[in-house]
Amino acid sequence: MLGAMQDWDLRVTHLIDHAAREHGNREIVTHWADGSETRTTWGEVRLDALKMTQALRKLGVQSGDRVATLAMNHSRHLVSWYGAVGIGGVLHTINPRLFDDQLEYIANHAEDQVLLFDKAFTPIIERMKPKWTTIKHYICFDNGEFEDWIGAEDGQTEWAKGDERDPCMLCYTSGTTGNPKGVLYEHRSTMLHAISGIQPHSFDFDAQAVMLPVVPMFHAASWGLPWGGAACGVKFVYSAVNDPKVLHDLMIREGVTHSAGVPTVWLAMFQHLDATGADLGKLKQAIIGGSAAPRFMVERLMKAGIRVAHAWGMTETSPIGTVGAPSHNWDELSFEEQVDNVCKQGRPLFGVEIRVVSLDDNTVELPRDGKTSGALQVRGPWIIKRYFKAEEDATVDGQWFDTGDVGVIHPDGTLQLTDRTKDVIKSGGEWISSVELENAAMSIPGVAEAACIGIYHPKWDERPILVVVKKPDADVTAEAIKDHLAQHIAKWWMPDAIEFVAEIPHGATGKISKKDLREQFRDYKLVDA
Ligand code: ADP
Repeated sequence: MLGAMQDWDLRVTHLIDHAAREHGNREIVTHWADGSETRTTWGEVRLDALKMTQALRKLGVQSGDRVATLAMNHSRHLVSWYGAVGIGGVLHTINPRLFDDQLEYIANHAEDQVLLFDKAFTPIIERMKPKWTTIKHYICFDNGEFEDWIGAEDGQTEWAKGDERDPCMLCYTSGTTGNPKGVLYEHRSTMLHAISGIQPHSFDFDAQAVMLPVVPMFHAASWGLPWGGAACGVKFVYSAVNDPKVLHDLMIREGVTHSAGVPTVWLAMFQHLDATGADLGKLKQAIIGGSAAPRFMVERLMKAGIRVAHAWGMTETSPIGTVGAPSHNWDELSFEEQVDNVCKQGRPLFGVEIRVVSLDDNTVELPRDGKTSGALQVRGPWIIKRYFKAEEDATVDGQWFDTGDVGVIHPDGTLQLTDRTKDVIKSGGEWISSVELENAAMSIPGVAEAACIGIYHPKWDERPILVVVKKPDADVTAEAIKDHLAQHIAKWWMPDAIEFVAEIPHGATGKISKKDLREQFRDYKLVDA
């Protein structure tokens, strides 16, 4: 027997229809690379996206074709998201910070047909054009080119029809090992992710929200913000440049209440605040994810009365998996305990299930006791099943996706990450968490950045060393670091050596690249080894 309710497919074009109908005059502000600013509305974004579908049709783009973008955060980029999916196409956001061989691989692997790009990335286009074999049309977002292109249309058309399980977006992981891998989101998965992502326990959006997304639209679907924001008619404030002064100025002038970015973005903002004595204005909610939010960051924001949503996720999880929201007993906790809670990675959104399994046998589930660490696995309707064009499923048993992260789950369901599977250090048969060592080191005032890697040791198999970048003018010594660590970690976790370097290598998404760091220290010998 079938139920008796209406057919209303979960296609993401419903989001923009809703935004235009119910929040049509709500603004989308953009600060452009040349310093100019423009304002549009959800109503106009929808009309422009419809025009874009007409323009794409004239280029011969068909349902299922990949439409790529190489662009920063701005309103035309937002239009192109809805234009690409509106024709039934698959939006492929390319990260301009990738290396040339990765850029070559992903555009060809995705078989992109059209590429929309920022003028600032023209050198990349010039370099890559001979290597990109499938892209037939290049359209610049600037110089009036994009506007002229869609301006020739009237928008009198309809969104392409299709199934809610059709693909709508393709994002590649940065591929710290091997080639990048494509994650192919569906309309349905994206819609469910958007609906869950805007809830109070997550990003906490409503019609009053003014959102400055610093997380790029080319990284992990911009944490789903362009979709979720439409569902609530959020006012978006975009900046095509990542200068903290510009971001702060926008925050104050536009009354920003919500912002989202990786820890380094918040760090740069703090430096700006320290230099100018300014505050964060009306900011209510700081969303931090992509890598662990350091304690001092959480503390500083919370002291300023800002709620910190510390989120864990990955491209393969659309990306939101868990978010730190106040627990039921929040008001009974001391400030310190509240900070402790937020430093963990939070609890699963409705729609995501998590478990930790043995690192040696990835099907044996471990207790949620806050002590036993294991490999983190997830499942749910917006979690990857299979990488784009892969022959085999990416799940371990047809259900659970192995994230490559290592952590513990506390009895109340809070996830706490302790490492990446590839980065844990096994010393004398026991696991050492590189993340905990790094966190302890990062809380030393003179330390700008710290990364911990395992070095071969004949007796212990591996021993940790800590690689440190000092803050400018800081005179912190190895002894001082060890003294500090001794107060925070088990004795046998103490790094065998502290090495000072000028710079620690980072990957295309701004995270520390342990792979490159390990490569740098490949021939390193421990003194007693
Ligand atoms: P890439 O591998 O391309 O950088 P993602 O941006 O998808 O891809 O990175 C996902 C990884 O980032 C996670 O598997 C996890 O290791 C790390 N990560 C994300 N959020 C957090 C967080 N809040 N705390 C610690 N690590 C995080």
